[in-house]
Amino acid sequence: MATLNLQVSALFPETALFSFIVEAGDPFMHEIRRGQIVRIVDLEGNQAVDTLFYNAHDYADRYSAQDTIREQASIYLTTGTRLMSTDDNVLLTIVADTCGRHDTLGGACAAESNMVRYAFDKRHMHACRQSFLKALQHWKHGMEKRDITSNINFFMNVPVTPTGGLTFEDGVSEAGKYVELRAEMDVLMVISNCPQLNNPCNAYHPTPVQVLIWDENV
Ligand SMILES: [Zn+2]
Repeated sequence: MATLNLQVSALFPETALFSFIVEAGDPFMHEIRRGQIVRIVDLEGNQAVDTLFYNAHDYADRYSAQDTIREQASIYLTTGTRLMSTDDNVLLTIVADTCGRHDTLGGACAAESNMVRYAFDKRHMHACRQSFLKALQHWKHGMEKRDITSNINFFMNVPVTPTGGLTFEDGVSEAGKYVELRAEMDVLMVISNCPQLNNPCNAYHPTPVQVLIWDENV
């Protein structure tokens, strides 16, 4: 299934109860209550937004790429995708999407992947796993390295070839495109607005994104 399931939202930014700009390379953490809608806006285009989700009442129950792919029988995330947890709960549903494709196979960048994918001397460059760790430690709920499991890369294009190969392609997103999710339970969202300077998919230039949240009764 390679179709882009585009869906425009009926919500207006002026009615959002929360709005925050996540600067390029920064982490961001926020709880989203059941019924609330969260929108992530790719402000300048082709920015990768690495994201983890947890059940807000049980952090051991967290986003599972494997369960999500199996349940929707597709490797790409778009409108209608239900994000599944390791305990088989529906954490959130994608309810609007003007980009049309988001990755959950590529994983988050790390010092190790920087060395393997780019060069040994890239080891000390800032990567998503450090941003996730920083956010989790800041949260002060005892979460650590082992709590960083499968993630979503919003706005990232990682197509699978007919022979099963995995390729990191130029993004299909552009300035102003967004993805919107409805929380089906109370969730904790952890974003690493990817600081990657070595991947041509963001033109070697990480950029800010915006997070907006609406209450269920807007
Ligand atoms: Zn990254």
